[in-house]
Amino acid sequence: MDSCDIAFDTKHIWHPYTSMSHPIPAYPIVAAEGAELIMEDGKRLIDGMSSWWSTLHGYNHPVLNQAVIEQLGKMSHVMFGGITHPPAIALCKQLVEITPEPLECVFLADSGSVAVEVSLKMALQYWQARGEKRQRILTLRHGYHGDTFGAMAVCDPDNSMHGLYKGYLPPHIFVDAPQCAFHDEWNESDLQPHKQQLAKNHRDIAAIILEPIVQGAGGMRFYHPNYLKGVRELCDHYGLLLIADEIATGFGRTGKLFACQHAGISPDIMCLGKGLTGGYMTLSATIATRHVAETISNGEAGCFMHGPTFMGNPLACAVANASVKLLLESPWQKTVEKIEEQLKTELLPLAHYPSVHDVRVLGTIGVIEMKHPVNTAELQKIFVAEGVWVRPFGKLIYVMPPYIIKPDQLSKITQAMEKVLTA
Ligand SMILES: *Cc1c(COP(=O)(O)O)cnc(C)c1O
Repeated sequence: MDSCDIAFDTKHIWHPYTSMSHPIPAYPIVAAEGAELIMEDGKRLIDGMSSWWSTLHGYNHPVLNQAVIEQLGKMSHVMFGGITHPPAIALCKQLVEITPEPLECVFLADSGSVAVEVSLKMALQYWQARGEKRQRILTLRHGYHGDTFGAMAVCDPDNSMHGLYKGYLPPHIFVDAPQCAFHDEWNESDLQPHKQQLAKNHRDIAAIILEPIVQGAGGMRFYHPNYLKGVRELCDHYGLLLIADEIATGFGRTGKLFACQHAGISPDIMCLGKGLTGGYMTLSATIATRHVAETISNGEAGCFMHGPTFMGNPLACAVANASVKLLLESPWQKTVEKIEEQLKTELLPLAHYPSVHDVRVLGTIGVIEMKHPVNTAELQKIFVAEGVWVRPFGKLIYVMPPYIIKPDQLSKITQAMEKVLTA
């Protein structure tokens, strides 16, 4: 039986955004299956987080396990420079097929943040190849694009790490986030900040990067599809590249396979990650149009200057390939719709609690926004006692369960969410 040396963990291991001197507790998980995490003492927690947006089909899935085992028997890794292999080709074929046209040139990388770095570098090299020095990126407040330096520089400047790293980060341009929510009536004035910035600075701007429809870790905000459509039109008008960071929203989370499809638009570059491998291991993809790829390749460098050691890792590609196939062969749209309906039925009535500012649901994402920041450690303790896994942050108590969650399991999660409101 595996056992967790919690004392060692507390003393020696960093956890995400967690103090080493006053850490909040980390719960020991030794196995997982379906929609459940299994603790060291055998207690089961129903998973409301999908391991940060990544688990789609549940844990310990026989088909995904088999894909990894089969590939493991052939080779777990080989360099991608000058070499190619069936799992990468099969995966990229699928990605070209399912992402909106005209995206068709796939760069495989290790994590979401690296996919964002790659997209920003592509935008800079694109303009360099065209003989223009454009190095500024336009983006939205409340955005989140990852934790590496390039990605950090386009995260919300106020609720992220800009203050800490002042001077290291390139100064990009931020506009106010859209105010019209997904289900609101559209108001054209949402695009005004973009129009003003572009009229003034478009000659310095290489690209606009945004999370389509759902701003995730920067506030769990759902905005209007017409906003995305408007930004695409502005990019076309000024000849700028549009980078869609679909790392959180991709693979059905919002009810469409990709959130861009709510607005019927296609970006020039798309970043995928998180759910790409069904949550099995880390892998990301940055997919560009042929125009972007060819412009870069015809530039001074003659190629795109990036090449991770574990690029195109065969194990990750094999499981990603199996996960995408499993998704496409499943009635995922119906599944997501059902989860959305249940989340609406069970969460929207909680809006009347005096501590609650807003409740919203889109696809498999359910959010309770509180009036004040919550005590993560304290709430987590209650959730675990209730037999569910939910990790709130800031003012947000939110869930996005794996698609295979059953109605009674989901109800247990929403009941626990109500419980913490009165705790
Ligand atoms: C999580 C996330 C990232 C970063 O991905 P990592 O794999 O954590 O590096 C980037 N963009 C968005 C929208 C994300 O949600």
